[in-house]
Amino acid sequence: MPEYEPNLTDAPIPEMRIRKPQAAQEPATPKRVISIHAHPDDQEFTVAGSLAKWARAGSEILSVIVTDGEAGSNDPSKDGSFRTELAGIRREEQLRAAHVLGIQETVFLHYPDGELEASLRLRKDLTRLIRKFRPEVVVCGDPTVRFYGNSYMNHPDHRAAADAACDAAFPSAGSRLSFPDLLEEGLQPHNPHRVFLHGSDRPDVWIDITETLPVKIEALRQHRSQIGNEDVGKRIRGWAAEDGKKQGLAYAEAFRVMIIVDEPPDRD
Ligand SMILES: [Zn+2]
Repeated sequence: MPEYEPNLTDAPIPEMRIRKPQAAQEPATPKRVISIHAHPDDQEFTVAGSLAKWARAGSEILSVIVTDGEAGSNDPSKDGSFRTELAGIRREEQLRAAHVLGIQETVFLHYPDGELEASLRLRKDLTRLIRKFRPEVVVCGDPTVRFYGNSYMNHPDHRAAADAACDAAFPSAGSRLSFPDLLEEGLQPHNPHRVFLHGSDRPDVWIDITETLPVKIEALRQHRSQIGNEDVGKRIRGWAAEDGKKQGLAYAEAFRVMIIVDEPPDRD
């Protein structure tokens, strides 16, 4: 049995156990969501349980993958010529994962893997997509977190994609005269209401993914070029249990949510 199973007969009830029901804290299902990540598989490792939950509740979701993940191999028998083949493999894996999650559309921006910068060009490309798709919610990483404990230094591509996504969400997408050629393309300004940042060291919203955890794991299994024969379910269940346990949830994904428009979701 898990070593963290509480001993309810002896232990005093910690203050943190007394809290509102989780259902009251979980945000309403957003109507339209744009999920922005650097590499194929980033979305599945991080937010796939929430996306699958929202998709099943009727959200329209656009997934944006900034690179094709063509640097994602350390096979010593391969050289740089493998990048094109690997890009194709990883795009296919990503599309299969999106299908598992119920995501309707995936866009690849084909920026070079391993060399991503939070450039104005990338911010503009993401601004264009936000203005076209007009989401209530943008989902991306937390660009401010570089170190996770002593064990993981966040990939620079993750930080760059998250930085550009945040800057596109605010202020660029809603600023009429930013990138004026977008206006000439007919793309009117649009303010997403919320930005959901995953991987934050200051989470304040938890999504209960108990029902969609198996879907998340199945989506992740589509990334065969990356996970090989690993029992990735074990790792994902561990992370989701860790995120959920202080909230009284079996499995959760944790977010810091930035509020851009403090209004009820637009339902028209
Ligand atoms: Zn990645």
